Amino acid sequence: MISNSLYEYIDKESIGSDLICLLCHNPFIDPTVTQCGDTYCRQCIEKYMRNGSHCPSQSCNQLLSTDHLIPPSHNFISILDKLKVRCQLCEKTNINRGTFDEHIKTSCPECILDCPGKNIGCQWFGSRNEHDEHTKTCLYEKLRRMGDILYRVIENQSLDIEKLQKQTEQQTTEIGQQKTKIELQKTQIEQLNTQGDQHNAQLERQATELGQQKTEIELQKTQIEQLNTQGDQHNAQ
Ligand SMILES: [Zn+2]
Ligand SMILES: [Zn+2]
Ligand SMILES: [Zn+2]
Ligand SMILES: [Zn+2]
Repeated sequence: MISNSLYEYIDKESIGSDLICLLCHNPFIDPTVTQCGDTYCRQCIEKYMRNGSHCPSQSCNQLLSTDHLIPPSHNFISILDKLKVRCQLCEKTNINRGTFDEHIKTSCPECILDCPGKNIGCQWFGSRNEHDEHTKTCLYEKLRRMGDILYRVIENQSLDIEKLQKQTEQQTTEIGQQKTKIELQKTQIEQLNTQGDQHNAQLERQATELGQQKTEIELQKTQIEQLNTQGDQHNAQ
């Protein structure tokens, strides 16, 4: 919760005593209910209980226990939220107390803000009014935007590199597969060559045998011719 020193209550005297904390005499902030049924700001009663053990209400004075602090009803909270306050920064009035944090965080023109480039070194701070104007011209902010763009470029390049790495890996795998295939084919060709060599040797052997048979046949033919010649001579005699 934003410090309650940034607002003041409108017409504080008219606020009912049932909404006022007995310890800080202001409307309850973050109220909590004790076991004995009395309501206090959480911070007030917790601080009080560091030294006091009994309810601060004189008419009650019962024993207190940190284990028995419960939140009040939603209705009670919503009554507190509707208390009207005035912003001490911009003087805007009639703000519901429950929405004061939002007023400071999102719209109070006098709220002091740091430059969004503070984390990269801009020392500037000023009211919300001046803030937008400063942000438009702040060198640090320009640098930050450039940094953001560069960062995105680098990120994209990293993605590209990752993609290329994946492609390269895939291609390496494919090359490996093709190498295996080529080696298999080489083995098959070698087997075929060996078979061819064996076949050639067989053919040569057969050719040699045929040559020998031819020689034998020719020899027999010559012998038969000689026998025929001898037979003819014999017949002539
Ligand atoms: Zn209090
Ligand atoms: Zn009490
Ligand atoms: Zn304001
Ligand atoms: Zn700046």
